[in-house]
Amino acid sequence: MSKEDEPNNPFEELQKQMQQMLGNPNLSIMINQPTGQEVDPEAPVDAPPAVEDEDDPLRRIREFELKPRDVSEYLDRFVIRQSEAKKVLSVAICDHYNHVRQCLEDEALREKDYAKQNIILLGPTGVGKTYLMRCIAKLIGVPFVKADATKFTETGYVGHDTEDLVRDLVKVADGNTDLAQYGIIYIDEIDKIAAQTTGGGRDVSGRGVQTNLLKLMEETDVSLHSQTDLVSQVEAIMDMQRGGRNRGTLNTRHILFIVSGAFDKLDEIIKRRVGKTRIGFTREHPADRESSALLRMVQTRDFIDYGFEPEFIGRQPVRVVCDPLVADDLEEILLVSEDSILNQYRRDFAGYGIEFAIGPDAVKEIATRAEAEQTGARGLMTVLEGVFREYKFALPSTAIQHFDVTPDMIHDPAAALVGVMESREVTELDVRRAEVDRYVAYFKAEHDLVLKFNDKAVDTLIAASEEAGRSIREICESKFRDYQHGLKLIARNTGRKTFTITKAAILAPDKELSRWVVQSFEDRAGGS
Ligand code: ADP
Repeated sequence: MSKEDEPNNPFEELQKQMQQMLGNPNLSIMINQPTGQEVDPEAPVDAPPAVEDEDDPLRRIREFELKPRDVSEYLDRFVIRQSEAKKVLSVAICDHYNHVRQCLEDEALREKDYAKQNIILLGPTGVGKTYLMRCIAKLIGVPFVKADATKFTETGYVGHDTEDLVRDLVKVADGNTDLAQYGIIYIDEIDKIAAQTTGGGRDVSGRGVQTNLLKLMEETDVSLHSQTDLVSQVEAIMDMQRGGRNRGTLNTRHILFIVSGAFDKLDEIIKRRVGKTRIGFTREHPADRESSALLRMVQTRDFIDYGFEPEFIGRQPVRVVCDPLVADDLEEILLVSEDSILNQYRRDFAGYGIEFAIGPDAVKEIATRAEAEQTGARGLMTVLEGVFREYKFALPSTAIQHFDVTPDMIHDPAAALVGVMESREVTELDVRRAEVDRYVAYFKAEHDLVLKFNDKAVDTLIAASEEAGRSIREICESKFRDYQHGLKLIARNTGRKTFTITKAAILAPDKELSRWVVQSFEDRAGGS
């Protein structure tokens, strides 16, 4: 980079970028550079008038009065198994938000020391760790943000900054910092930032990220204006110009942090420590869940051996283990969990006016296949996506409004789809007939005249609609556009209000109408 190219300071750089954005290099953009000394602390702050917030975003937190059992029962509606996790989380959550409520009631309490109940969730992928926390955030009415620990690098390196998490929380809270400060930040794959002490493969950056996260979890003021985001920078400058030096920061004291990970091989470390004999298997934790049973015995020193800083792991006092899910659990998810993936598919198909019925055998088959994926409940998504992919593409363009999900369909979705499509012709005919009926009803309502299509006329109409690729309604509207005038004339001549539409009328509507009109005049003349 030559000397000339080098930006003198961030504001000149900002000005350059804005000129580029606006496509005019000569444009002069006035940006008053805040220096700190220029801000007169006594000067009246040009703050927007305080708005009486009718719908207080903190209302639910101020009125927080849930008991741990309420939280756990709420979770039961969505999350299958994980009873221990539900219990521990419910207690931790109630403690945390009771404390927040008390702080909102009593400013002095805010300043008192409080050991935050940050939580560490252990367990394999797809067993509901994130889902539990998402459900909790929804119940409490606070914003929720999730990120993978692996995307963070130490401050100053290319990549995401841990502080971005806080800024994301504000975004999720629609810019409401009051609400964001009580939100929940969920950091997954925390095990991947353990600095490995053996094998020499792991770099030290894991340790650096742990330190950064620790700072966030403790208490720190995070600038809401990212150093790398232009718009954010402009906002920052405007804030500074308004004189609010502390404006645009968010304190992390009341943010609840959850970290989680699969912690592969942590069980081996624990096993070495406790020795095999001390592992107690119970009905709830049978031997095939040895890993979960071991993880339940985890101690701070095991985490340290795994590569965590003692300070970091010491700040996660609540440790919860989630169990792997077996086929029976996955079946239960499909059948019982509100908002389960199956219900999502139901809604997707319902969007096209299609519904499906699914029997217990098919549910069992899906669950068995999903278990084989070894990705917990995520396996259900994989299996269902594989089964329904073609159906979602093909069925909305047909007249099919119902289909049955059978075990055969799970075995061989493509073959089953052929069967479903074959039933289409009958169904489609019914739908077209219904369209004819609708046109008849419309004609009667508009013109008080009844059209009766005989069978041949209906067949001809359906054939014409298919050939032209247009709806029955469109075909009728074009063929019978003059019919109301002609038929009203006939009605006046003869008093008739019901007319039979024949094949001839479909094929040559104008000619047939003329014939009828002429006939009606003859009839009238003959009758008079
Ligand atoms: P992870 O444990 O890796 O955080 P998630 O909680 O993100 O897994 O699970 C992915 C999805 O699978 C959830 O959004 C939810 O739909 C479903 N799911 C996972 N575990 C359960 C469970 N125990 N009960 C009901 N649904 C679950």
